[in-house]
Amino acid sequence: MNEKVEKSDAEWQEQLSPEQFYVCRQHGTERAFTGKYWDHHEKGVYRCAGCGAPLFSSATKYDSGSGWPSFYQPEPTAPIAETVDRSYGMVRTEVHCDRCGAHLGHVFPDGPQPTGLRYCINSASLDFKDQ
Ligand code: FE
Repeated sequence: MNEKVEKSDAEWQEQLSPEQFYVCRQHGTERAFTGKYWDHHEKGVYRCAGCGAPLFSSATKYDSGSGWPSFYQPEPTAPIAETVDRSYGMVRTEVHCDRCGAHLGHVFPDGPQPTGLRYCINSASLDFKDQ
């Protein structure tokens, strides 16, 4: 599952819900405490809403109190890439799916051990599959 997925905006709009399109393709952010996964506790794998690549396991999900699904570590094979995001007068590390380009959220250095990282991810970028 390494080949790139390239689609036109029209094709993404066809495949994704309006909320998913806004977050994944237009770099949007869902409002805190509104997404379907911030308070979701089933065991399984969260896949990219755009291309289905496995991104995060429920085993690394934790309650950050932020209102967004939070993970301390991606899946070992997750195609996650980072960019520097200087929007809104902040310098943050944006994370996206390197396979289909979907915006996922941001990663911050204030997470729990063992990584000390907090992957703050939009529910709209994820598609949960139970085990
Ligand atoms: Fe993807």
